[in-house]
Amino acid sequence: MSIHLNRFKLILYSTVLSVTTFGLAQETRPNILVVLCDDLGYADVGFNGATDIVTPEMDKLAKNGTIFSSAYVAHPFCGPSRSALLTGRYPHLTGTPYNLFHNSSDRDEDNLGVPVEETYMSKVLQNAGYYTSAIGKWHLGSAPKFHPNKRGFDNFYGFLGGGHDYFPAKYNITYKSQVKSGVENIRDYLWPMEHNGKPANETEYITDEFSREASNSIRLATKKKQPFFIYLAYNAPHVPLQAKAEDIAKFSHIEDKDRRTYAAMVYAVDRGIGNIVKTLKETGQLDNTLIVFLSDNGGNFDHGANNYPLKGTKGDTYEGGYRVPMFFHWPKRIKKEQRFDFPVSAMDLYPTFVELANAKLPEGKELSGKNIIEDVIQQTEPYKDEMIFSLRYREGYNDVGARLGDWKITRMGNEPWRLHNLKEDIGEKKNLAGRHPERLKEMVARTQEWTNSFVAPLWVYSRKDQELWNSGVMPNYEGTFEVDKLVEPPVHN
Ligand code: CA
Repeated sequence: MSIHLNRFKLILYSTVLSVTTFGLAQETRPNILVVLCDDLGYADVGFNGATDIVTPEMDKLAKNGTIFSSAYVAHPFCGPSRSALLTGRYPHLTGTPYNLFHNSSDRDEDNLGVPVEETYMSKVLQNAGYYTSAIGKWHLGSAPKFHPNKRGFDNFYGFLGGGHDYFPAKYNITYKSQVKSGVENIRDYLWPMEHNGKPANETEYITDEFSREASNSIRLATKKKQPFFIYLAYNAPHVPLQAKAEDIAKFSHIEDKDRRTYAAMVYAVDRGIGNIVKTLKETGQLDNTLIVFLSDNGGNFDHGANNYPLKGTKGDTYEGGYRVPMFFHWPKRIKKEQRFDFPVSAMDLYPTFVELANAKLPEGKELSGKNIIEDVIQQTEPYKDEMIFSLRYREGYNDVGARLGDWKITRMGNEPWRLHNLKEDIGEKKNLAGRHPERLKEMVARTQEWTNSFVAPLWVYSRKDQELWNSGVMPNYEGTFEVDKLVEPPVHN
């Protein structure tokens, strides 16, 4: 009798438990706000050591959250990095490892973009009941079928191309005069801003308008009583370097003109984040909003950025090309004043958000990253004995970077493979390939194995690239992963 009773109690208990767990999960699902900057350098925010640029609002969030010192994006430049963020997959697996060059047409059949078969994180979150917004830069296809509103975003405010001028009062005049004089293929940096496919008639400095629109989305979702997902993709501080005079005036101590303007552009993003936080407080959402801040790739040395102490610039597979500033802020679950030094990938955001939103992945959906939320909270290593990769196609060769724990292999063009211990040598100065040839070989072999599942690019950047791919010179993985002839002689102390 007592056995039966116990079993009954057990069943009852587990039923109650599962209902409660489900109920709680629904109630506590966080809002998610991704703030993505464009070409922001590793050292260009206060929380990562900038002293000439000040970012008080970001620094406050970073301090009250977790700062990631080893966050990698999937690619060292814009388009492929964004494709990977939203699809959760390496761009080489989806045919999107090149930038979309120019959005010259608005017809489906003439234009290119990230395949519609790849379900974006926005679609999964939308299906789970989130109010979803994309604000700012898109750069994932400008034809109708690739439009944000077709890819899981209820709301889109911004521009579809790869970059944009910043002052509507100026670019609108240029745009209109080019239309009037019959210019074909007007540069997409000048196209009018749009709101869900309609002209936005904008007048503000666009960084400020994107911040304003993020606040509007938060208010709207709160009114609708829906959790929200906002993908706020500022094009700042990407070129053209254009900033408001009053922001530039704050950085008169910076002598270099480009750096001064760049600093003012970052400061405008920071001001926007401050306003968004204010809205989150006013709507009572701040405590249960996961804010993820990051850059889409490393800073560009030629345009005012600084990646110190990392080596390299935007486009490189040195750390400076694709290791980016990042933090999480979420008072409800993420502890204050934490640093997370284990390597993570921007592609981890997709599965992490799916878990937090209690959302369902479409059947067969593959992901390159992993849910890292518990690792971040518990300070455990998400990629123990696993590698995080980057590979950039050049003209006839590949640049590669791959991380395993504290170790990193790098190959830039036809230079020999390099091996670095990043814990001791974050600046990739001392090549240890000759001292640890077996480690180098193993890491190179594992990286080559990763390329086995690559598909051919759906588009390339230039005619020369196309010829190289057509002739079989590219992808040239064999040449890239050849080690024996390239290892430097052992170092003797
Ligand atoms: Ca970029």
